[in-house]
Amino acid sequence: MNNFTEPLCILKTRLFREHDISLHALSKERGFLTVYAFGGAKSRRRFIGCLDKFTIALCTVQKSMKRGYLTLQEASLIASSKEFLHDTMKYGVVQNCALFLQVACRAWSYTSGVYTLFYDLLQACSDREDILFAIPFFFRFSLVALLGYTPSLYSCVVCSRHIDTIALPFFSIEKGGVLCHSCSPLSSALRIRDKEILYVLQYILSFSPIYWKSIPYNKQSIQQACTLIDEYVQYHLGVVWDNGRFIHV
Ligand SMILES: [Zn+2]
Repeated sequence: MNNFTEPLCILKTRLFREHDISLHALSKERGFLTVYAFGGAKSRRRFIGCLDKFTIALCTVQKSMKRGYLTLQEASLIASSKEFLHDTMKYGVVQNCALFLQVACRAWSYTSGVYTLFYDLLQACSDREDILFAIPFFFRFSLVALLGYTPSLYSCVVCSRHIDTIALPFFSIEKGGVLCHSCSPLSSALRIRDKEILYVLQYILSFSPIYWKSIPYNKQSIQQACTLIDEYVQYHLGVVWDNGRFIHV
């Protein structure tokens, strides 16, 4: 038998047989795991508060050498998900991010940065209702960057001219970043009418979700940045929202 103890983010829970619960969880070192909490549905005192969706718990897990399945032995709560479970809007935001995470990472390499991003999201889902709509887009943009598609936001992706010297920048989804006026005819780039949209994108990739609620830009720029993010993520990851779920296209 092999044991390990580490924090797990619980993404999904499912009742199986009469008394047992399976947990689909995210681990920093091991990526996505399915862990069985035998007896977890019968007596929750053993794993008090740790078997709820979107909880973060320090878990001791035993790996069966014979069959390879993982069994939860002990768990202690790091962060409760009660706040999400009782707030429909926040629950919807975290659920959307969790669904995207599972679809996007299924086909792409997992990195420990993915765990940290989701962990921070659970710790700090925004209290600012005016930007709550934007959090799933911010999350997708950060995740796509972690998966290797960081756009060039500080200089022209073709000639490397710095953004501070470009008065009217363009953005190319295909080329993955900002274009100056001279380089823009090379592609079907979008004109960025307000540079603040680029500052929103820079802010998202510069700060952890813990700081997203302090984003200092106006709602209109954030909305336009979200539209651009949606197109960027669809193009590079091929993941779209369709009938209440994310799918690869
Ligand atoms: Zn250029």
